[in-house]
Amino acid sequence: MRIAIIGAGLAGLTAAYEIHKAEPDTHIDVLEAGERIGGKLFTVPFASGPTDMGAEAYLATRADATELFHELGLGDSLVTPSGARSQIYAGGRLRPMPRGGVMGIPSSSAGLEEILSEETRTLIDAEAGTAPVDWQVGGDASVGALVRARYSDEVADVLVSALLGGVYSSSADDLGIRATVPALAEALDRLAESGEPVTLSGAVKLVETERAEARKNSETTPVFQTFRGGYAELYEALADQCGADIHLDTFVSGITQVNGGGFQIKGGGEGTYDRVILAVPAPTAAVLLREVAPGATEHLKTIQLASSAVVGMRFDSAEGLPDVSGVLVASGEPAITAKAFTFSSKKWPHLGERGGALVRASFGRLGDEATARMDEDNLVDAALDDLQTITGFDGRAAGLSEIFVQRWFGGLPNYGVDHIATVARARTEISQVKGLEAIGAWASGVGVPAVIADAKAAVERLLDA
Ligand SMILES: Cc1cc2nc3c(=O)[nH]c(=O)nc-3n(C[C@H](O)[C@H](O)[C@H](O)COP(=O)(O)OP(=O)(O)OC[C@H]3O[C@@H](n4cnc5c(N)ncnc54)[C@H](O)[C@@H]3O)c2cc1C
Repeated sequence: MRIAIIGAGLAGLTAAYEIHKAEPDTHIDVLEAGERIGGKLFTVPFASGPTDMGAEAYLATRADATELFHELGLGDSLVTPSGARSQIYAGGRLRPMPRGGVMGIPSSSAGLEEILSEETRTLIDAEAGTAPVDWQVGGDASVGALVRARYSDEVADVLVSALLGGVYSSSADDLGIRATVPALAEALDRLAESGEPVTLSGAVKLVETERAEARKNSETTPVFQTFRGGYAELYEALADQCGADIHLDTFVSGITQVNGGGFQIKGGGEGTYDRVILAVPAPTAAVLLREVAPGATEHLKTIQLASSAVVGMRFDSAEGLPDVSGVLVASGEPAITAKAFTFSSKKWPHLGERGGALVRASFGRLGDEATARMDEDNLVDAALDDLQTITGFDGRAAGLSEIFVQRWFGGLPNYGVDHIATVARARTEISQVKGLEAIGAWASGVGVPAVIADAKAAVERLLDA
C-alpha cells in the first residue's frame, strides 16, 4: 500500500508513525511545504540551550500523549514545571491567578477579592438567584457572551479572555463553549435535562465538584510536562521512527482521484496513492479538498485562524524578575501590546539551571493581524517595554544576550460557536471518499495530546477502510 501524508507537523508525523507501527511494509511519503518538520512545534538552538518558540508544554493529564512519548523512548526526557503560579495583569496592576473555577470562569466570588471589583463579586454571588439561562441541551453559545450576560464584562475581560483566550489566541467572545470548555457545556446540558434552573455558577460548581472527585481517585500526575531538549525531541523521534520518506519544500496545491479510486497529488509525491491524509490547517485542507470532497471545502473554509508572534529573550541576569511562571494580560489593557509573558526559566527548573533568565513574550489575537506583522525591532521593543511596565524588570539593563522572533501566521484555528458541528459536517463529507482523512489542530482540539489522539484515530479508520 502507498500512503501520502500532506504536512509534517505533529498531526502528519504522528499519523506516519502510527501507520508504520501498524503496517511496516506500507510506503509512506510525507509532503511538507516548509523547509523543516514540526509545524507549530519549533525548537530553536539558542546558545544557552534548545528553546521552544511554538508550543512549550503539553497537558500531561492526557495519558495517551505521555504513553506515546514513552513508546518513542522519550520517557526520560519528560520534565515537569516548578509549580510557580502565574499572575494576571489588569487595570494597570498584577493580580493573583484565581484558584478554582473553569478556565477563568468562577462559581463564586470566594478568593477573588484581590482580582475583581466588589461590584462584580456581588454579581457573581447573585447569579444563581437570577432568571435561568435559556440553554438548549446540545446547544452552544459564545463563552464571552454568556459570562458577560451572567456575571460582568470584568470577568470576561480580566479572567476568561486572559486564561481561555490565551490558549486559543482569541478573546472570550470569539470562543464557543462546547469547543473550548466542553465540561461546562455538558454541565449546562445536565442542569437543563434535570429540570433544575440553569445557571452559570451552578454549572461551574458541577464541574468543580466532578474534578475534585476525579483528583481524589487518581494518582497525582503533574498537569503539564515538556521535553528537556524542547519539542525537537518529539518531532525528530517521530521522523526517525515513522519509516516515511519526508519531502521538504514540497508545496501541495491539490488532490485528484483517478479512476479506480487512487489519489494523485499536485505539487509533490510520485504516482498514485491508495490513501491520503491531509494534516494541514483547515483553510489549506479546504483548498486541497476542492476536487475530491467539495462539500468538506465549504465547511472547512469557514474556520478562521488567529495569528500570533512569540519573542524569545534570554537575559544574563534574572534579578528583579518576579518569582512567578508568567503573566497573562487582560484583554483591552491600554498601553500593553503583549498578551502574555512566560518566565520560562522560572516555570521550568531545567531552563532555570541554565542561569540568567529566559522569557517568552506572546503577541496577537484573532482579528488582530497587525500585531503579529509588526516590524521585528518594534516587537522586541514592545516585549521589553511591556515587561518593564508590568513587572519593573528592566530587560535592557539585565543584558539581553539572545533574541528570537517567531511569527505564527494563522497559528491557531478559532474554536468558535458551533465549531464542533462544523468539524462533524466536514468529516461526514470526507468520510464519503474512501481512503481519505483530514486531521490536525482544527479537528479535535488544539493541544498536543488532542492532535495526537486525532491522528491516531484517523489512522485506525484509514487502515480499516
Ligand atoms: C505559539 C503557539 C503556542 C502553542 N503552545 C502550545 C502548548 O504550549 N501546548 C500545546 O499543547 N499546544 C500548543 N500549541 C498548539 C499546538 O502546537 C498545535 O495545535 C499543533 O502543533 C498543530 O499541529 P498540526 O500538525 O495540526 O499543524 P501544523 O503544526 O500547522 O502542521 C501543518 C504542517 O503542514 C504544512 N503545510 C501547510 N500547507 C501545506 C501544503 N499546501 N503542502 C504541504 N505542506 C503544507 C505546514 O508547513 C506544517 O508543517 C501552540 C501553538 C502555537 C501557534
